[in-house]
Amino acid sequence: MQLRVPGPTPCPPRVLDAMTRQMINHRGKEFAEILQSTTGLLQQFFNTKNDVYVLTASGTGGMEAAVVNTLSPGDPVLAVTTGYFGERLANMAGIYGAQVTRLDFPWGHPADPDAVSQALQNDPGIKAVLMVHNETSTGVTNPLPQLCQVVKEFDKLLVVDGISSMGSLEFKVDEWGIDVAITASQKGWMAPPGLAMISFSPRAWEAHACATMPRFYWDLALAKRFLNKGQTPFTPAVSTLYAMLAALELMAEEGQQGIIDRHQRVADATRKGVKVLGLSLLPPEEFASNTVSAVLVPQGLDTKQLQRLMAQQDVILSGGQGALEGRIFRIGHLGWVTEEDVQIVLKALESVLPRAGFVRTA
Ligand SMILES: *Cc1c(COP(=O)(O)O)cnc(C)c1O
Repeated sequence: MQLRVPGPTPCPPRVLDAMTRQMINHRGKEFAEILQSTTGLLQQFFNTKNDVYVLTASGTGGMEAAVVNTLSPGDPVLAVTTGYFGERLANMAGIYGAQVTRLDFPWGHPADPDAVSQALQNDPGIKAVLMVHNETSTGVTNPLPQLCQVVKEFDKLLVVDGISSMGSLEFKVDEWGIDVAITASQKGWMAPPGLAMISFSPRAWEAHACATMPRFYWDLALAKRFLNKGQTPFTPAVSTLYAMLAALELMAEEGQQGIIDRHQRVADATRKGVKVLGLSLLPPEEFASNTVSAVLVPQGLDTKQLQRLMAQQDVILSGGQGALEGRIFRIGHLGWVTEEDVQIVLKALESVLPRAGFVRTA
């Protein structure tokens, strides 16, 4: 089976085995060791000295934690959106009462650092900037180092959804000055769904001290207090944590650069193979993501039918989200994935495409 959706991703056997372990007391010494090892390895992969908190939630819970721990109702924030998940972050901040200015880029295109700079210049009152690194819905990786540099020039609090990039693509929390970075276990981390991971900088703590958005489950002050004694405030997803630690140990064996390079090779092979089949990608090549490929649906191709026929070949692909439904299909290639996996996907695509209505013209 090739589960090639951009999360949940397949888990290696060692990760699945770890999940079969018996429960332990989450207020005990053994749990403290697991939590501390996990957060230590996460700090390495986040490239940060900031605390990293493990929350029992999907990625969206981590996004909500980022918002409510740093902002107050009425705070002016700039939400940079390039797709479905950028919109989610913007909407969420608005629902909690932030005064959201949106800087929208067309879906399939990256955020432009100069435009962000202009937006910050136009509105000096902006307190924080919210953005998505890797827009999973469009297969675009935004130029994060350049975007971070602009936000830092204007000295704003920076919140980045790195849910589908962290652990797979280069991501340097401290060097790039990211105050809050969010990711989730089921994306590039080769673990099952259930955990959101979030780093919080000293500057984010300053923001926390005067942030008045309501929070209880997401209050990172509680998470901090409990982490100091090797615990989480509430009952954690113990089995998922076992899995997460096993996955991080595997990742540490491969090494951060090795993982980044593998994602590059796998993505290159995917993009090349897609083109050979006569298809093209939604994003411009230089911003095409190394974790998910968004393939344009040509005239005549029925994506639902394509997904059905691919599933019969044991290959599971994603469709488009929101405005891109029916206009793209997506191949996830993050986490536990090799070039051989991608070749299987491409071979299946080749055999299935004609039956899904695709007539090659060139
Ligand atoms: C998957 C994803 C999310 C949402 O995560 P859930 O775990 O489904 O809540 C948010 N942002 C990005 C960029 C994602 O890829």
